[in-house]
Amino acid sequence: MLVVEPNRMRGSPSGVAMVQCKDIPNEPILQFLKKHKGQWATWFQTMEGGMPSVREAIPDDIPGKLVVAKMRQLIKNGLVKGCGCGCRGDYEITEKGERQLC
Ligand SMILES: [Zn+2]
Repeated sequence: MLVVEPNRMRGSPSGVAMVQCKDIPNEPILQFLKKHKGQWATWFQTMEGGMPSVREAIPDDIPGKLVVAKMRQLIKNGLVKGCGCGCRGDYEITEKGERQLC
């Protein structure tokens, strides 16, 4: 099976993507945030009918700490708005993030 490294695919100029984060693809997260545009999303598991959670777009075996790190990376890259400190996050997709999906 051919495995394409996401960072190489995107030609990350710095190549400093966190080792732990690079295995989580951006696209499902951005797709998820786009689907829930107009609502804030969080990173932890939420109750049915609660806030949308990007957790749904990330494999279950990824620990919450890494999900936050991944979101922090997306914020740093300007693809997502919100807070990466580990609080609720209130994530939203940015225009730049949406352009990545086209
Ligand atoms: Zn915060």
